[in-house]
Amino acid sequence: MAKILEDFPRFRLGQWPTPLEPMNRLARHLGMPRLFIKRDDCTGLAFGGNKTRKLEFLVGDALKAGADTLLTHGAVQSNHVRQTAAAAAHAGLRCEAILEERVTDAPSAYHDSGNVFLDQLFDCKLHRVPGGTVMDDALEALAAKLRSQGAKPYVIPGGGSNALGSLGYVDCILELQRQCESMGLRKPHLVHGTGSAGTQAGLVAGVHALGLDWPITGIGVRAPKATQEQRVYDLALKVLQTLGIDRPLPREKVFADDNYVGPGYGLPTPGMVEAVQTIARLEGILADPVYTGKGLAGMFAWARAGKFPADADVIFIHTGGAPGLFGYQWAFGKAAA
Ligand SMILES: *Cc1c(COP(=O)(O)O)cnc(C)c1O
Repeated sequence: MAKILEDFPRFRLGQWPTPLEPMNRLARHLGMPRLFIKRDDCTGLAFGGNKTRKLEFLVGDALKAGADTLLTHGAVQSNHVRQTAAAAAHAGLRCEAILEERVTDAPSAYHDSGNVFLDQLFDCKLHRVPGGTVMDDALEALAAKLRSQGAKPYVIPGGGSNALGSLGYVDCILELQRQCESMGLRKPHLVHGTGSAGTQAGLVAGVHALGLDWPITGIGVRAPKATQEQRVYDLALKVLQTLGIDRPLPREKVFADDNYVGPGYGLPTPGMVEAVQTIARLEGILADPVYTGKGLAGMFAWARAGKFPADADVIFIHTGGAPGLFGYQWAFGKAAA
């Protein structure tokens, strides 16, 4: 598998491997026998996160194509846009991004602090559009406009979630396989927040390609279960095709739990607030309000309901996002006081 991945152009952006560490105090708090964390919040690019792995393949492809500008889209507090803007700066490319106003009634910090401030530090040109805009169409229109002006844009889908980007999470499985072996973890059970689907699709494809029997639990942050699972499954098939693996992928290898989305994408929930505070206070680790906070809320609920087998080595994949906290301080209002 490592050999196959070497065939794809890759632009180094991160520091690998990211640590795999026990979370003993949180495990005790939740009554979990074995709990670990994969620190993909520590990828090293501009406060880190899961988009670094995807962008290594996407920027590699952009440079090969002779692009001069990266284009992408996301929500206002998008970690993906922040990481893309940083990757562009490091690769000597321009960057433009379309931000969708998915969270209304938020204070001004949501609109200009956290990731938005960082996007601007990286000199990413931001275009803001109302919630409900068809983002892929808006992105294509922007690309066409830039092309007509003589630029060479490279379009990166929301979340960097296409087959090429997802290869980053196939690579993460290779990394985890080595780390689990050296640390003696025999029954890994991966848990993570799933949004634009590329992370889970890469993980599922990687596990399938290597013939591992590791369960993967995606905790949804936006779409209903059936929609999310189908999205992940379809993308995982494309990843396997890209890798040249034709062993059929059983549909039931893709599992998403949508019980922790709350009122909607990027909207705070009490479970998110509890999870972000608990991991901060017991482990000194910063989670985020949109993805890892809800992912952890799901994992907390699973642990409390006894849904993980007693001999499982549960690994929470920390996909980053902490800069978003500064756009969401209001959500912790009473609890933070
Ligand atoms: C984008 C993102 C995710 C979700 O990953 P997908 O590949 O989009 O499903 C999870 N956590 C954080 C912090 C993110 O920024």
